[in-house]
Amino acid sequence: MNRIVSEDYDPDFIEELDSSEITGAFSGCLACRTCTSGCPVHRANNEYDPLRIMRMLTFGLKDELIGGDMIWLCSDCYTCQENCPMGIKVTDIINHLKNMATSAKHTPIGVSTQEKLLKDQGKIYIIDDFDNKKRTKAGLPPLPEINEEAKKLLEKR
Ligand code: SF4
Ligand code: SF4
Repeated sequence: MNRIVSEDYDPDFIEELDSSEITGAFSGCLACRTCTSGCPVHRANNEYDPLRIMRMLTFGLKDELIGGDMIWLCSDCYTCQENCPMGIKVTDIINHLKNMATSAKHTPIGVSTQEKLLKDQGKIYIIDDFDNKKRTKAGLPPLPEINEEAKKLLEKR
């Protein structure tokens, strides 16, 4: 685990998130570990820890959170948020951090590749002849290789 360097502390970041309607206040965190103990990703990989994210927020470690890979391990299952005794929007906070990282173009290669596929073809997985043959056999209509409507929506972003 990296040591916390006081120069990395960003009080504006704490103020911005703690007063945001999207994330809600997080400063009431009791460090009770309820979020971590119920987290399925933590069970599979104890390097991932939602409480650690909350502590990093408390210390204003914006660059480390936004520029690192940890937030991207969250599976968005909302268990932590539903269990938090203080009503802290843990998952919404992590999603907000992901959005901030995306705006700052700090996305892991897997995520940026999926983003490019969505922009190029309107879907992540190409529907090819093989898929359409299986659909025909199942009595389903064929699907286009590219989803033009989704592409158009993403072009507006
Ligand atoms: S469950 Fe809530 S109060 Fe407890 S450590 Fe996690 S965020 Fe903090
Ligand atoms: S939403 Fe993310 S941090 Fe919360 S329990 Fe699920 S995987 Fe863990």
